[in-house]
Amino acid sequence: MPTSSATPIKTISVLLSAPLDKPYDYSLSKEMDATPGAFVEVPFGARTAIGVVWGKGQGNIPQKKLKSVIRFLSIPPVPETSLRFVDWVSAYTLAPKGAVLKMLFGNPKFLEPKKKDRYEAPFFDPDYNQPILNQEQKNAAAVLIDNVNAQRYAAVLLDGVTGSGKTEVFCEAIAQCLRQGRQALVLLPEIAMTAALIDRFTERFGHKPVLWHSGLTEKQRRLHWQAIAHGKALFILGARSALFLPYPDLGLIVVDEEHEAAYKQEEGTIYHGRDMAVVRAHVGNIPIVLSSATPSLETLENVRQGKYGHVILPQRYGTAAMPSVELVDMRAHKLSAQEFISPPLLKALEDALEKKQQAMLFLNRRGYAPLTLCRACGHRLECPRCTAWLTEHKASGRLHCHHCDYSMALPKVCPVCGAEGRFAACGPGVERIAEEVKERLPDARAAIMASDTLDDPKAAQELVDKMNAHEIDILIGTQIMAKGYHFPRLTLVGVIDGDLGLAGGDPRASERTFQLLQQMAGRSGRGEDKGHVFLQTTAPEHPVMKAMVKGDRDAFMAIELKERQAYRLPPFWRLAILTVSGLDANQVIRATQELAAKAPRDSGLRILGPAPAPFAKLRGRYRHRLMVQAPRTVNVSQVVREWLTTVKLPRNLRLAVDIDPYSFL
Ligand SMILES: [Zn+2]
Ligand SMILES: [Zn+2]
Repeated sequence: MPTSSATPIKTISVLLSAPLDKPYDYSLSKEMDATPGAFVEVPFGARTAIGVVWGKGQGNIPQKKLKSVIRFLSIPPVPETSLRFVDWVSAYTLAPKGAVLKMLFGNPKFLEPKKKDRYEAPFFDPDYNQPILNQEQKNAAAVLIDNVNAQRYAAVLLDGVTGSGKTEVFCEAIAQCLRQGRQALVLLPEIAMTAALIDRFTERFGHKPVLWHSGLTEKQRRLHWQAIAHGKALFILGARSALFLPYPDLGLIVVDEEHEAAYKQEEGTIYHGRDMAVVRAHVGNIPIVLSSATPSLETLENVRQGKYGHVILPQRYGTAAMPSVELVDMRAHKLSAQEFISPPLLKALEDALEKKQQAMLFLNRRGYAPLTLCRACGHRLECPRCTAWLTEHKASGRLHCHHCDYSMALPKVCPVCGAEGRFAACGPGVERIAEEVKERLPDARAAIMASDTLDDPKAAQELVDKMNAHEIDILIGTQIMAKGYHFPRLTLVGVIDGDLGLAGGDPRASERTFQLLQQMAGRSGRGEDKGHVFLQTTAPEHPVMKAMVKGDRDAFMAIELKERQAYRLPPFWRLAILTVSGLDANQVIRATQELAAKAPRDSGLRILGPAPAPFAKLRGRYRHRLMVQAPRTVNVSQVVREWLTTVKLPRNLRLAVDIDPYSFL
């Protein structure tokens, strides 16, 4: 960096990977020379810390107190694009810059290889196994390849029903990127999904992609970080955190299943992986592909406004036809309190078993029963630390809170009325459906697929292998099942509670239900036989249900967009949630009121609240919040940032800012 000869001490500013919002000045000794992005070790309090040179010294520390840089690390400096990306994400999400930088590091331990490290970056052959594409796929691939060749920012929605061959299409763009010798990144919403895709990518490019997700060992992460930062790893498959790695020459980003809410990181630095991927593409001036069978309303609106291109794959690849969807009106069937499978669905299951076909039963509730109550007095067993019921899990024989780590054995005596042995499980979880299947279809081989039974991609792959080997007749699971698996013998999907998600204060609930049901529908009949979906509901007249039966996305979108506009919701308005939490309920309420009182006037914002968060208590902390609505012309991040500088919260309270919230709990 250029330094004036008048200053004997060269000062630079260094950003540390800690929750600090600004870089601090350090001095350089004579023989040192620094470029922005260089990794340095510096004294920090009583310890030392690793940081990145952010620029020239800013004079925020008096010359006399300046500490010197200890050493430069021998790794390539962070590319300028990555530095600007950190600045951008921090400004938008209001997360401290240092916290965003931490995601670029992964962990300081990854920065320097160990002596014993041996890692040969794989060679990806763009022409290793070129599939035969149909005409629609060829046309779609041509658009994406053009964008890769243009080497500049362009966002495209790759839109096609499940089974239409989207993966083969975006692989053509990846191949072109590899031919240019540039890095290509594919993002997935959940690591449980990686196993199935790894195989497909390996077949296509002759080598397993370089992975980046929390399921890797520390050594794997260190090796992969090194390979990526040195530009040796050209094809990377990762979770949303992979976006922040310091790619020296990223040429393409693909966001698979772009509609997935799992792209939203809800803890620490709160950000949306898909949205930040678009920003990363913009900052790096490279193309991005958003792929989905059920695109988000936000993305469709961006397409409508001409901000994103749109490539459609209308047909299913091969011979499979779209499944038929049948609504089962649960009000017309009188089931006992222990039964959740309606007669029409049971009959369909029996038929499928008879024909040696496979079925899936879907219920988005883990465990055995979502609620346990005392039949004598009606007392419901709640988590003592959260506003949430305890869920019974048969596997552990305990009641668990799904919002914190609290669990307890089922009490013998009711803590309220003292009645003995009167607790009853209410409502179904996937474990209870499995029990019902066992009782009513004793010959069926059933298995459960839920996030708490599959904590790593390997366990997911084992279940998938068993399904493919037809060692399972009926797979019972949560939304984790709705991902991109392909089971040729699967012809029947039963949705136990199609109403879940339609009610409640979440503005995206209808959209999510529609997407989930479309994906579940897409699971069935991907082989030769036409699939059938049975959707159990108590609201068959709801527009989501009607659109489901017709498979009519446009009709659904039209209804939903009108509602969103009327209620000042995304994509027409922008939202932010400010949640204050603490151990003292009154203090939390007072602080939230003060925050509201200081809300900027004439800024165009609409402030709703203060109000208790739906989970008014979580992990022992009381939570009060404000919801902010902003027209799209207002820079909501900046207005909120300025607002917060006028408020001083007591130190024992926490404030979480969520720009573009997806979770409303
Ligand atoms: Zn009781
Ligand atoms: Zn809890």
